Amino acid sequence: MCGIFGVYNNNNASKLTYLGLHALQHRGQEAVGIAVSNRYEINMKKAEGLVMQSLDEKSLNELKGDIAIGHVRYSTSGKSNPQNVQPFLSHFYKGSFAVAHNGNIVNADLIREELEKEGAIFYTTSDTEVFIHLIAKAKNTTDFGINLHPNDREFLPLLFSAMKKVKGAYSLLILRENQLIAVRDPFGFRPLVLGKNKQGSIFLASESCALDIVEAEYLRDLKAGEVLVIDGDGLRSYYPLGFVDKAYKCIFEYVYFSRPDSIIFQDYVYSIRKEMGRQLAREMPIDADVVVPVLDSGMLSAKGYSEESGIPLEIGLIRNHYIGRSFIQPIQEIRDLSVKLKLNPVRQVVEGKRIILIDDSLVRGTTAKKIVRMLRRAGAKEIHFLISSPPVVSPCVYGIDTPTKEELIASSKSVNEIKEYIGVDTLYYLSLEGMIKSAMNNKNKGFCTACFTGDYPVL
Ligand code: AMP
Repeated sequence: MCGIFGVYNNNNASKLTYLGLHALQHRGQEAVGIAVSNRYEINMKKAEGLVMQSLDEKSLNELKGDIAIGHVRYSTSGKSNPQNVQPFLSHFYKGSFAVAHNGNIVNADLIREELEKEGAIFYTTSDTEVFIHLIAKAKNTTDFGINLHPNDREFLPLLFSAMKKVKGAYSLLILRENQLIAVRDPFGFRPLVLGKNKQGSIFLASESCALDIVEAEYLRDLKAGEVLVIDGDGLRSYYPLGFVDKAYKCIFEYVYFSRPDSIIFQDYVYSIRKEMGRQLAREMPIDADVVVPVLDSGMLSAKGYSEESGIPLEIGLIRNHYIGRSFIQPIQEIRDLSVKLKLNPVRQVVEGKRIILIDDSLVRGTTAKKIVRMLRRAGAKEIHFLISSPPVVSPCVYGIDTPTKEELIASSKSVNEIKEYIGVDTLYYLSLEGMIKSAMNNKNKGFCTACFTGDYPVL
């Protein structure tokens, strides 16, 4: 769970990256970093915390240059500590480069062990550093059979060689003194979009909502397995690992993770999320008075359900947006404080009503249990809880932060047992087929559904 953003050819590169990262803040709140090239050297600022709180105008003014990459971090691999904050800047015999990574490399531990046995010293516990070592160590190889532009002959074979060894999910941005390079793994797990503004600056971002904030137009998604080089000679694409017919795009990006105002995997998150709610209504029609979303994540599927069923949508839970990262320890007498800080029922809406409560996903089940208790206390007559995705049964190994298998309620309990645990009148999960059908269009074929099925495309 991370967000990445890059700019080429703009003298306000650091400030635009700051704005782009702010738009991607939902993808990671732990730390932020920006690296900028002034065409001679790369400079960088990193800090723990939110974008707006961690980088000030002075820091951004010090980051002079017209090419930049940035990263917002939520740790899924490696500990949450200052060393692991990205981008990572490295210097080797062919110059300097900075890397920002979204995803998770599944064979990182193995590669790391091999490299350490050969004497490599790692400075972080992040899987991304493996990539850097592999690039620096690679011998210039010509066995890729790809005709490279002269500007690319020095660095790209090293990158291609690293890509050959690494398995898993990686959307990467690499900043060199005179180049910006974007990479999407051959399975295409994580999104990465390309944009351009009227002045001719080029942008890359995890989601298109970050292009909107800098007034850039969305051009296209990077393709699975694509390496895109941007420099003074233009844009060039290579496919060092060949074309892959079936990409494994993370369907959970559509279910929960991406912002609804984004286009990712060539489609609108908004319409897909709403379609999941419509599909839910087709699969599980219920006679009730109101549809209530668990804000914010259940909003669009609840809207879809309401439209399809004709049952009115009401905001029966209000969300407080001012929850700090650290708050006073819950007071023992107030059992549901952690949820109360975030959500509060509207008695007028729920009292005496038969409610269809909708959320996008059920992970541990702890939030839902507390919400249901609050709604019952506010007078709800019936609570029918519908989830716009199937049961989460397996942890994600490709970059979404999910708890261990033991903590996933659906990995050990049946739907009926979960229903009893949460204390609802009905519990229904969207079918796997229904979810895939809602997310699929003619262009975006192929999803990774490992968290719902346990079928991992690459391990
Ligand atoms: P839980 O109490 O663990 O069942 O939490 C479920 C809630 O967490 C749902 O409202 C989801 O929208 C939200 N959620 C789902 N996946 C994640 C995630 N990876 N990180 C944080 N929240 C999530």
